[in-house]
Amino acid sequence: MDTLWKKCLEEIEKRILPENYATWFSPTYAFTKGSDTITIAVPNDFFKRCLEENYQGLIESTVESIANARLRVDFQVASDNAHGRTSEPLNKPAPEKEKGPEGVRFFGNGNAVGLNTRYVFSNFVVGSNNQFAHAAALAVAANPAQTYNPLFIYGSVGLGKTHLLHAIGNLIQQNDPRHRVRYISAESFTVDLIQSLKKDDMSAFRERYRPLDILLVDDIQFIAGKERTQEEFFYTFNALYESHKQVVISSDRYPKDMQNIEERLRSRFSSGLIADIKPPDLETKVAILFKKAENHQKKIPQDVAIFIADNIQSNIRELEGLLLRIIAFSSFTRRPVDLELAKEVLKEFTFDRNKNFTIPNILKTVAAHFSIKVTDLKSKQRSREISIPRQIAMYLCREYTQASLPEIGRQFGGKDHTTVLFAHKKISSNMKENNELTRSVQQVIHQIERG
Ligand code: ADP
Ligand code: MG
Repeated sequence: MDTLWKKCLEEIEKRILPENYATWFSPTYAFTKGSDTITIAVPNDFFKRCLEENYQGLIESTVESIANARLRVDFQVASDNAHGRTSEPLNKPAPEKEKGPEGVRFFGNGNAVGLNTRYVFSNFVVGSNNQFAHAAALAVAANPAQTYNPLFIYGSVGLGKTHLLHAIGNLIQQNDPRHRVRYISAESFTVDLIQSLKKDDMSAFRERYRPLDILLVDDIQFIAGKERTQEEFFYTFNALYESHKQVVISSDRYPKDMQNIEERLRSRFSSGLIADIKPPDLETKVAILFKKAENHQKKIPQDVAIFIADNIQSNIRELEGLLLRIIAFSSFTRRPVDLELAKEVLKEFTFDRNKNFTIPNILKTVAAHFSIKVTDLKSKQRSREISIPRQIAMYLCREYTQASLPEIGRQFGGKDHTTVLFAHKKISSNMKENNELTRSVQQVIHQIERG
């Protein structure tokens, strides 16, 4: 069932703008097929309406061509855990073009693997928050392996790391198509390694990486705690570095803050240039919105841009997601893009984001972020490695869920409500002076929002 829909999605992806695909189709999945109907699960009513009004025809004709039969297409709003699946976050990006060892797509010529040609420097808006990372990325792209090596870019989710990595690769390819460039997420690198080990084919694995001129590794934090991957990555890194090849790495945190990473790797990460991307300020957010609207041949009034920017803290993917929804809503209701319409759309959006903030979700995400176990958070252990994440988790439960203090205490293995209150006070006051703590808390919030 899901395969039919997957095939349809692949077709649809080829036919519409990537942004529209990411916004409207990525969060869908098929869950039933009758003899003459296929039912597609969508996150909420808003999606249902938009898909019906804008894409029903396209979907039906695609289904028909793939299933070789005329089927009616129905949309149904999925409850959170219907059919044992969680609906995907709204703003999940389209699957990266990078598909791991087997499914790698080639762009341009065979020398570029995994690059997404959509992410280039010319559509990256520079603001005070990302100026430094942008300049470093440009310098590396202009003179690979001669300026900063490795270049290590870090920042929270949705701030443009992946975009910059691809932009570097694309520019290098454009300047000299002979350069062998590979973009890979650390996750796909790990999968590639595991499969190669299973097939006992490490020489082919090494052949895929060692001859490269440029290696772009995204989300390196993924290899935390994975010893074998770290070891192999270390060898790959050294081989490239020693033969003066460029390595660019992205991470959601500063090398020093990465836990469960071997010291020798951490010191490699820090040996070139470390550039951070901070959350964008209001002006940058507004500039990004104008640019994105322009890409869709739309003009949005300034008060609407400011309204969106004010309401989305930092994640640029969300900024874009909300903008696209406002544009789509305006086009299918045939109403102008104005403040009133923007407010209506935001209401849906906020509701959807917040439903990820459940106590179990908070516990799970905090535990994963600090590489500890949920049971540690619920335990009585008092070591700092456990007690600080526990206090952060309690803080988030108090801030982001409706649960009462005693209820939160119960879900933390039967703690007293005063413990929860104390944790909340302590984290909120420490966040005022401790940037590192604030950064951790924000990262966790973003992870929960993303689902
Ligand atoms: P990250 O990898 O840091 O999570 P991405 O690079 O995937 O973030 O960026 C999320 C989305 O926001 C992408 O669609 C990207 O094109 C867009 N984006 C991020 N920063 C900028 C920017 N400065 N200018 C334009 N678009 C941006
Ligand atoms: Mg990314």
